[in-house]
Amino acid sequence: AAASSSSCGGAGCGTHCSSSTSSSVEDAPEGILGRLSISGAAASCGKCGGGAVVVVAGGVGLCGECLRAQLFGKFKLAVTSNAMVRPTDSVLVAFSGGPASRVALQFIHEMRSKAIESWDASNSQALPVFNVGAAFVDESVLLSKPECEVEQATEDIKSLVSSLLPGDKAMHIASLDYVFSSESKDGKGRLRELVGMITDDTGREDLLQCLRMLSLQKIALENGYTKIMLGSCASTIACHVLSATVKGQGYSLPADIQYVDTRWEVPVVLPLRDCLAQELSLLCEFDSLKTQELLDRPCSGINGLVASFVARLREENPSREHTIVRTAQKLKPFPFNKFSANGYHDFLPSRLRPKFQDVDSDESASSEVLCLICRSPFSESELQNFESTRRKSQKKIDLYTAYCCQSCHFQILPGGRDLYDHFFSLIPRFWTERADTASASHSSYSIDLAVYYFLVHFDSAL
Ligand SMILES: [Zn+2]
Ligand SMILES: [Zn+2]
Repeated sequence: AAASSSSCGGAGCGTHCSSSTSSSVEDAPEGILGRLSISGAAASCGKCGGGAVVVVAGGVGLCGECLRAQLFGKFKLAVTSNAMVRPTDSVLVAFSGGPASRVALQFIHEMRSKAIESWDASNSQALPVFNVGAAFVDESVLLSKPECEVEQATEDIKSLVSSLLPGDKAMHIASLDYVFSSESKDGKGRLRELVGMITDDTGREDLLQCLRMLSLQKIALENGYTKIMLGSCASTIACHVLSATVKGQGYSLPADIQYVDTRWEVPVVLPLRDCLAQELSLLCEFDSLKTQELLDRPCSGINGLVASFVARLREENPSREHTIVRTAQKLKPFPFNKFSANGYHDFLPSRLRPKFQDVDSDESASSEVLCLICRSPFSESELQNFESTRRKSQKKIDLYTAYCCQSCHFQILPGGRDLYDHFFSLIPRFWTERADTASASHSSYSIDLAVYYFLVHFDSAL
């Protein structure tokens, strides 16, 4: 059960980054607690010495209160030390209904409430308080679930969010085919056709993950959000590390596992990177934070295999997931895994300022070539191939193909080249336009990026 209900296995998966133990939580909470309490012997909380120890995380027994404080501490540290949220930001939490994103929503809401309290208390009231919204990407178009179940689940999700964020404006629900809303009348049909063209299970799942991120980006851009917060936790990132390795995505892997990812139009942040899925599930139990995972798609292909493998490692030793993430953390991140100092200095304590790059001194941040579909940065060999194809090719399809990373070539692009025309006509125009813009500008990709960044800032200024 652990594997089948698992996350989609990646950073960037966001909305469906639920705990891999989620489905069994509802069925048998005692079972989960039992499995987590590996030492079993701990009689009192390792932190406060109080009784009622309910969880053993990394060998230490904690009471519910201390577990909560520990997780909130990790979350807050990640947010503040990476300047994830500025006072002027509008944060969109990608909410899947699962425990991880549920906790992210809870914690950022609490941080906001505290900020409002101190804002009210302060006399100067100089800094504004950031805004929070939530987005749910509904993938039921690809699931064969009865309509009434889908409706019920969506209603549940709405009421979950509105209990924290009152008002209609803070909740955004979009079907996955929303990515086609501006270019296709029959978005659902187009989505099904596109997904149907991919013969590989893993490739299909990875493409859906890319479409999900695109939906989030679209929701954020259209509603003036300046950050997207994902519930990706150590467990989902551990799965992503292993599956990316298996898929031959080693070069681009470091890009996906950092706290900050600015290669998107709206930057993405991962404040739960240091928390385990099981801990987050337990917190939901203790604090009676409701979750709703009826619309989760089961993992398949490589992602599913890796998820069940990691689940077995976890049973042997709950801190294995941390070990995998920590090992991958030794890889060098990309320049876009940091916020630039521009626009941040005013809000940053001076001790943090060196952590943010100076844009002028590091132009490589914007010259990275990213895959058309998955946005993986190109390795040296991919880059050479890309440059030579781009120079000699006349046809658009050749350009688009050259803009796809090796992994997407292998796993997502359809089998025969004769199918490419049709495939590229089905993918969101937003993606192919990116290649068009870049080739039209003739010079570099950085112009393309600069244009988008301009549009984003322009958009949020409105
Ligand atoms: Zn305690
Ligand atoms: Zn790719």
